[in-house]
Amino acid sequence: MKRGLILLLSFILSMSTVFAYDLIWPKQKETVTDKDYALFVGRARNAESIVINDKRIYTAPNGAFAHTVKLKNGNNRIVVRSNYSAQVYRFHKENKPIIDEPLKEFEPKCAIVKTDETPLRSTPENYGMNRLSHLFKGTTVLVNGSKGKFYRVFLAKDKTAWIEQKDVCLANNTTPAQFITMDSKKFKNASVQTVKFSKNLPYTIEDNEKEIIFRIYNPELSETSVYTVNIPKPEKYTYTTSLKDGTYTFKVNTIPTNIENCTVVIDAGHGGSEKGAVGCLGDEEKNINLRISLELAEKLRLLGANVVMTRECDGNMGLGERVELAKKNHATIFVSIHLNSIGNTEFKLYKHRGTSVYYFNENAKALAECVEKSVSKAAKTRRDGVRSASFYVIRPTEYAGILVEAAYMINPHDSMMYTSEEFASNVASGITNGILNFIAKQ
Ligand SMILES: [Zn+2]
Repeated sequence: MKRGLILLLSFILSMSTVFAYDLIWPKQKETVTDKDYALFVGRARNAESIVINDKRIYTAPNGAFAHTVKLKNGNNRIVVRSNYSAQVYRFHKENKPIIDEPLKEFEPKCAIVKTDETPLRSTPENYGMNRLSHLFKGTTVLVNGSKGKFYRVFLAKDKTAWIEQKDVCLANNTTPAQFITMDSKKFKNASVQTVKFSKNLPYTIEDNEKEIIFRIYNPELSETSVYTVNIPKPEKYTYTTSLKDGTYTFKVNTIPTNIENCTVVIDAGHGGSEKGAVGCLGDEEKNINLRISLELAEKLRLLGANVVMTRECDGNMGLGERVELAKKNHATIFVSIHLNSIGNTEFKLYKHRGTSVYYFNENAKALAECVEKSVSKAAKTRRDGVRSASFYVIRPTEYAGILVEAAYMINPHDSMMYTSEEFASNVASGITNGILNFIAKQ
């Protein structure tokens, strides 16, 4: 009898582990973190109800659920219950001290930029949107202060910027640059400006509604020595900046109005060992990105566009390689395809849902708006908006670059959509229509 009871009990226990829920996140029972929220993502089996710390969690018809719990400093005990089981998860939140480094000022010194694409920032922090320009190797800057791991760069009177100390080497004071010549040429679909100095100087770019303002600073000569080039821009454009032996060449290209003359680079996000986000049911973002990308390539090729894909199968590819490929192929438009996840924030079922499109440069904003609108329409996703963000692949100005987050991997509602047969094709139709609307726009 006793033996029979034990057997029955172990049967019930084994039932509970089989029929309870699958957790995608967290991966282990004990976690040490500096995040503010603990994220629980998974699938309830057989329509069981999921209760996390006494709060009943919404589950979609496919069982998908997601929930965050705010963590306090130190130990946190979180209990996840389903009909037959209760599991305890422990999170230890470490206190993140906020250190405000003091500003140390010193006499101006010269510093030479070590590599191309060194960010010149408006604030002393690695925050994506504070980039004023990307300096070229061999540029001489004047530094007159430091804060944390940054040097303060003196550009002109009332104009300073910041550069990471590791990106420059201090030099003995040099001689100021001399202005040599300036030239401007106009072509049918492009304009080229050249400004020649006796050495490599720092620059900034301001792309406002009417024009592109290109400024070159010569602070060693005087604190008011700034060369400003105001470049009128067409409605839709891309531009390149290059520097060689003191000569800046700044070229603005007009984006063609017909798709046959456009090169579209399609970038399926992640791949290989980089899975991207994982959804409530265990789906991997990289695979959905690729499905959408392949559908998009087919649709755009049918319309006569020149299509280049960064990956056509499941494999690893670095961000640098993706951008290089696009530049080498003279991309007009670059579309990076992803599905969203949430950062260190409280998950909201009706907010973290649907399609959002990101741009970094002003020249891709209208494209992002067209694509966000048309993808939401074609795939019937919620309109999550257009936002600026500093993603590596959309930073070049050589093309109009956008990053599409078609839906949220961890949103239970969205998981019903992105696992459906027609999702990839609908998103691809939406992106295609968005591109067509953008290039036709006058
Ligand atoms: Zn992604």
